[in-house]
Amino acid sequence: MEKPLSGRFRVLDSIRRGGPISRVEIADACGLSRSAVTGVVQSLQHEGWITEVQELAHGNGNGEDPARHDPGRGRPRVNLDMNPNAAHVLGVKLSLHRMSVAVTDFRGDVLHTTTLPFNGSQHPDIAADMIEVGVRRCLIEAKIDKNRVLGLCVAIPGYINNLEGLCYWSPIFDRDDVAFGPLLSERFPFPASIENDANVVTLAEHWFGEGRNLSSFAVVTVEHGIGMGLVTHDRLYRGHNGIGPEFGHAKIEFSGRPCRCGQLGCVEAYAADYAILRQVLPHFSLDSYSQDPKAYHVEIERITAEAKAGDQALTAEFAKAGRILGRAIGNLIATLNPPKVIVTGEGLRAGEMLFAPLVKEARKLQLAGNRFETEIVAHLWGDDVWARGAAALVLQQAYMDPPALIRDSAPDSAELPSQALA
Ligand SMILES: [Zn+2]
Repeated sequence: MEKPLSGRFRVLDSIRRGGPISRVEIADACGLSRSAVTGVVQSLQHEGWITEVQELAHGNGNGEDPARHDPGRGRPRVNLDMNPNAAHVLGVKLSLHRMSVAVTDFRGDVLHTTTLPFNGSQHPDIAADMIEVGVRRCLIEAKIDKNRVLGLCVAIPGYINNLEGLCYWSPIFDRDDVAFGPLLSERFPFPASIENDANVVTLAEHWFGEGRNLSSFAVVTVEHGIGMGLVTHDRLYRGHNGIGPEFGHAKIEFSGRPCRCGQLGCVEAYAADYAILRQVLPHFSLDSYSQDPKAYHVEIERITAEAKAGDQALTAEFAKAGRILGRAIGNLIATLNPPKVIVTGEGLRAGEMLFAPLVKEARKLQLAGNRFETEIVAHLWGDDVWARGAAALVLQQAYMDPPALIRDSAPDSAELPSQALA
């Protein structure tokens, strides 16, 4: 069971989202008393995570009347902002053919990304070695001292228990039940964790993307397979023992097409990259991806480009995939009634060919009388954003509790941002 969000988290998160921001605005945003905010702010300032910024009383550059904020003209308004250089965090996104590493500052802004080839179905030790190389390379390229890093999170497709660092199953490994979190931690001077990849992209949407202003929403990822993440009351829903929603394996047909999971009629067997590819290229089988993931990606991109160039038969395949996914998302909306469903992942390279029929079909299933229509949006972004979401998971922990690594040492004052807006 996860801990509730701490006051420390709420204050830091509202400064990250709204800074520079006043103490009164933080209290309003967090639903905390002003005295509680004052106490938290004091310790955050003392530890060097946030800094005071004075807004000059004769104007803020936006043409706003400063007297609106501060009736005592001439007295500068004091806001609070993050000290982004206080520490750094690392996120990694693994797929069967590629590894993306991102290093961010304490606010979650990406400072550098490194992308390297990666081979799936590996012995866990070899996978950990490859991650170690990628992380070290990213830190060297970004000129960041490893001692200023609070932690690392690696996003992995499969069944992951984040709290225990356990991977029950993933196509990344050649075996099941891998204690990969502890294996990674041995290699770095900072804590390392693992998380399901759909969960980290969902966190990225919550921190930086389409879910930024929502406390509950769903994300559907369309890639080689189909995944899902769910945020409820500002927390990731992780399900029983960390195995969250497996939306890709929701069934849409009795005795339907074979799925990677070994069952029949799953939604991903109709709408994922592999499902489209095997329909149009009969020599591609369920195993083609794991045998040669790079060639597989070249093919799906070629097929998509040909469809966009006007190939009618290919366009019809993408439309069919979109319709089926739209039906499944309609079921999801009927089950959960979220305010928004965000569709993301590489499968969106198909654009409107896939997405327009998806929305049309999901809308058809909307129940009469429900005036609160769920918004369905497409959001295409790259692997570096998934890695940024993994980094945000480390930040979430660092915002919750003072991080152990540099808790007792204030950040270098030379790295503090300018105190004035002038
Ligand atoms: Zn399945």
